[in-house]
Amino acid sequence: MDMNHIRMPLPGPKAQAMLARDAEVISPSYPRDYPFVMSHGRGTQVWDVDGNRFLDFAAGIAVCSTGHAHPQVVAAVQGAASQFLHISSDYWHEEMIGLGERLARIAPMGEPAMSFLCQSGTEAVEAAIKLARYITGRSRFIGFLGGFHGRTMGSLAFTSSKYTQQKGFFATMPGVVHVPYPNPYRPLFAGDDQGVAVLDYIRMLFERSVPPSEVAAILVEPIQGEGGYVVPPDGFLAGLRALCDEHGILLIFDEVQSGTGRTGRMFASQHWGVSPDIMTLAKGLGSGLPIGAMVAKKRLMAQWKRGAHGNTYGGNPIACAAANATIDLVEGGMVGNAATVGAHFMSALNDLARDYPCIGQLRGKGLMIGMELIEADAARTPARALCDAVVTRAFHNGLLLLSCGASTVRFMPPLNVTREEIDEAMGLLRTSLDQALAGA
Ligand code: PMP
Repeated sequence: MDMNHIRMPLPGPKAQAMLARDAEVISPSYPRDYPFVMSHGRGTQVWDVDGNRFLDFAAGIAVCSTGHAHPQVVAAVQGAASQFLHISSDYWHEEMIGLGERLARIAPMGEPAMSFLCQSGTEAVEAAIKLARYITGRSRFIGFLGGFHGRTMGSLAFTSSKYTQQKGFFATMPGVVHVPYPNPYRPLFAGDDQGVAVLDYIRMLFERSVPPSEVAAILVEPIQGEGGYVVPPDGFLAGLRALCDEHGILLIFDEVQSGTGRTGRMFASQHWGVSPDIMTLAKGLGSGLPIGAMVAKKRLMAQWKRGAHGNTYGGNPIACAAANATIDLVEGGMVGNAATVGAHFMSALNDLARDYPCIGQLRGKGLMIGMELIEADAARTPARALCDAVVTRAFHNGLLLLSCGASTVRFMPPLNVTREEIDEAMGLLRTSLDQALAGA
């Protein structure tokens, strides 16, 4: 394996020329952190236009679940494309029905499920919000601080992982109340169990300001993603389930980032054995093809009348073919790899943390791992600048990373990443931490 990732200062000459063209014609709103200009990828490796090799531990924001250009996914896409590119959700075809069947089989509802197909996570969340309003006749919702659910005006109403996401767009969909997400590392409430405290807080809201009979749904990420890769305490999701059942409220799990094998289980909620009424998927579902799904218990989805919700591209044959191949690959072994290689990764990170007091906490499941960086004080002050510096240094060393939360480096490599690639990335990470701490 070529261990010499980077052969020139970055960005290289071809990348620089393309960055200049991009700056003239592409929206500056994309939150881009460093200038990686892609040429191609295979598995966990990607190359830039100047021929530099990188290990991709960001995987297109947890999207490239089967790695870059997996031959089985590429063949499925090519096969579907050679038949027809599009027919619209007004008609029927094999790839769409096959995806519905696969999702019904793997969905963690504990009862029959149906899927509404779309193109992205935000649209899957919009569909979930609309279904919940439609069948409950209620208009209020509970969301969580630090949550990320998309950037359209309905899903944006729930999104609160950074204030810049809402700033400038004024009032979003009304009726959403945010409550704290239980974070044992940064407790907001007294007591040992932040999950129990948050459940009590919601009960207090129900008694004083938010009549539960008007609440359509609670929307929650089983593991919070953009908000910092926060794993809730055991018992929290089960507590939400019980609260919802008590008041006839629907429980929606947003598994856009944590689903499709990412955490070493098909869905993150399965770590705690809690079933949602509705689940949203996107990202890793299509290995990179734009696809989202809102999966709901059949007895709920079946209440939608014809024409209640729809779209042009839902069930696009190429996107569905990619999703079908992805599910087959993830079920066929990659989910197991995410669990075992993820455990190896976590233990290597724990070893690393012994040498770096700035690593405040390591958390996550499978291949959804966060490394929260803190200042050298007793208050666990988020080390924001250090986090940015580690991500930037890692890029220059040949490792693609992204951050989340205030100062958490997140690791979300493809689900078929190897132990050797993890070990190689660990070396690059150590170098990057050393350089960032030295202010290089
Ligand atoms: N939900 C979650 C949990 C997410 O992480 C994201 C994207 N980061 C979304 C929804 C929105 O997905 P998309 O960007 O595909 O609209």
